[in-house]
Amino acid sequence: MRHSYLKDLDYSVVQQCMHCGLCLPTCPTYDATKIERNSPRGRIALMRAIADGQLEPTAAFGDEMYFCLGCLACQTACPAGVNYAGLFEHARAEAEQSGALKSPRRNLIRAFTLKWLFMDLRRLRLAARAIRAYQRLGLQSFIRRSGILKILPKRLRELEEMTPEIQPQFSADLIAPVTPAVGPKKFRVALLTGCAQDPIFSDVNRDTAEVLARNGCEVVTPPRQSCCGSLHAHNGEWKLAQELARRNLEQFPPDQFDAIITNAGGCGSHLKHFSALLADDPAYRERAMLWDKKVNDIHEWLIKIGLTTPASTGKAGRQASPAVVTYHESCHLCHGQKITSQPRELLRAIPGLKLVELPESSWCCGSAGIYNLTQPQMAGDLLRRKMNHLKSTGAQIVATANPGCLLQIINGARAEGLDLRVAHPISLLAEAYRQRA
Ligand code: SF4
Ligand code: SF4
Repeated sequence: MRHSYLKDLDYSVVQQCMHCGLCLPTCPTYDATKIERNSPRGRIALMRAIADGQLEPTAAFGDEMYFCLGCLACQTACPAGVNYAGLFEHARAEAEQSGALKSPRRNLIRAFTLKWLFMDLRRLRLAARAIRAYQRLGLQSFIRRSGILKILPKRLRELEEMTPEIQPQFSADLIAPVTPAVGPKKFRVALLTGCAQDPIFSDVNRDTAEVLARNGCEVVTPPRQSCCGSLHAHNGEWKLAQELARRNLEQFPPDQFDAIITNAGGCGSHLKHFSALLADDPAYRERAMLWDKKVNDIHEWLIKIGLTTPASTGKAGRQASPAVVTYHESCHLCHGQKITSQPRELLRAIPGLKLVELPESSWCCGSAGIYNLTQPQMAGDLLRRKMNHLKSTGAQIVATANPGCLLQIINGARAEGLDLRVAHPISLLAEAYRQRA
């Protein structure tokens, strides 16, 4: 008999939903369509029907699971404690295993990205260098000016416009394998440099290592690392996610570190659940349980150990007016990890910044992993909603702690011609330390 991810899932998880509907107003897809099927309650009902053997995983089921952002706002709202994150991952794995969504184009894209590019980050870096050459040798601006893009299908044009700027140097070029603590060493931590984060935001990784060192941490950053596997787990590739979790456990034995640090909200949410991923693997189960306890988001860790506040420099009465910063919450940082106060505390500790609250700060920006690539219309609507709120704050800087959110809002600001700086909170903190060194 065929293995079923939903049928084999602990039934207490599948039947936890009591249909109260309190999650409905927090769900961006339900808010957009007002269709029950597009709500958390509706999706859970479909998953349960499959677990109960009343429904087969059809293409319509698969499409519904991929219309869900996986933002986990419903999980925060749910009074019954429904584990939507677990259900969602199993439901997408079920959809993939059934083959209901298969098509030659889709199979090719998934084989190239999930099964090849992101399984060995040397390949990803090579691809990033090719994109950098395309951007720096003038080819990109030539193609954009030439009008060639106009003859391409709309979707390809949109994808070209979304191509992120690749950094000249990657994390391994910027961060030593071991960064000593500044002053007395209090902790030994490992720093995960991520997959796409490395070529696109290696500067954020460098800033993270620097901030950790200034807070008494010796930082271990191996130049060759593996993807954490969140991309795979969220896209139905459960077995590949397990393989990547094992690789991370081998590379970073959790008993050798006080903490394992991530600066990406989406990765952190996944990294903290390796024990669930490897629950049936006796060789790794125990290690994964210790790992889950050691993984810390960077903001969480700094507040936990007592943040070293950057000293204020300017003289009272002569200081320039503070720059206004607002904070957009990555879904998997606030809903997945429940980390909401720490990034704000950190931003408030930076001299020269004034934090103003963003309306709907925890409403998804539409990035949601690769959602802005697979569901461009819904992602675009969410981005416009986010940009309207950002404009209402009058902020010059928006801080956010996930590479997908950073890219999405950078693209939104560019599309609207806004003079808005988009930065990771840790980069703002690192700059404050440097200015006051
Ligand atoms: S994860 Fe987000 S989009 Fe999906 S059901 Fe929950 S609230 Fe709705
Ligand atoms: S809030 Fe929780 S229990 Fe209520 S309908 Fe939503 S998922 Fe089900």
